[in-house]
Amino acid sequence: MKERPSFPARLPGSAPAKKAKPAAPINQPQGLGMDSSAVRQRMVQKLAGQGLRDPFVLQAMGAVERHRFVDSALVNQAYEDTSLPIGLGQTISKPGVVARMLELLRNGASGQLGRVLEIGTGCGYQAAVLSHLASEVYSIERLRGLHDKARENLRYLRLTRLHLLLGDGMLGYPAGAPYAGIVAAAGGEAIPQAWIDQLAVGGRLVAPVSHASGAVGGQALMVLDKTAQGVRQTVLEAVHFVPLKSGVA
Ligand code: SAH
Repeated sequence: MKERPSFPARLPGSAPAKKAKPAAPINQPQGLGMDSSAVRQRMVQKLAGQGLRDPFVLQAMGAVERHRFVDSALVNQAYEDTSLPIGLGQTISKPGVVARMLELLRNGASGQLGRVLEIGTGCGYQAAVLSHLASEVYSIERLRGLHDKARENLRYLRLTRLHLLLGDGMLGYPAGAPYAGIVAAAGGEAIPQAWIDQLAVGGRLVAPVSHASGAVGGQALMVLDKTAQGVRQTVLEAVHFVPLKSGVA
């Protein structure tokens, strides 16, 4: 079995690491103990300081161990508000961006969302966070290497209501439709019609989309609400996501 990255022995502001257990297996859940939880709580406080308010999202961000989803060399940066490489030219989004997208997706709901579709599983981090917020999560990735990595990263959580799929997310995933929410972690020129078709009436889609007329590579966050009267689109702040590509590789 692949060894998981160990959590750094010394974290900023945390108590010095105890020297008592150097031979303990690396990164056993109980071995991480309070340190990683305390660092996550600080991350959550910073997110709240940035204006993120949804208690469900903040709770989920505090619960998921982001350091388990990045390479061992990057573990020290796992709780900083920065995107990190996850291999094959892709990146795990900043915690602030993940929280923002999920807060938009939830749209102040009083409880859990129903079925949700995520486009771009990547390393599986956001899928794990989503699993706290939705009754069923379908997450699709087009790169086999990352699909396998996410499966490996998520195994220990035994999330029976998270379904990892290898495929072209531009086509959505009709078998799970209709979705209460759809969230994309990669940005294209426009929102694929398949996503809109697979969104439930009353559902919400959050995705980065390239500016129609803007500078090269410029993207903005787009929120699309599907109502009985039609779709309503809102363009929000500029963002920077990896490109949405078609096909499986
Ligand atoms: N949510 C991820 C972020 C991954 S980055 C995480 O927490 O790690 C975005 C991912 O979208 C990349 O892995 C990329 O391969 C994937 N992607 C791009 N186009 C796609 C498509 N058409 N279908 C599925 N995945 C796609």
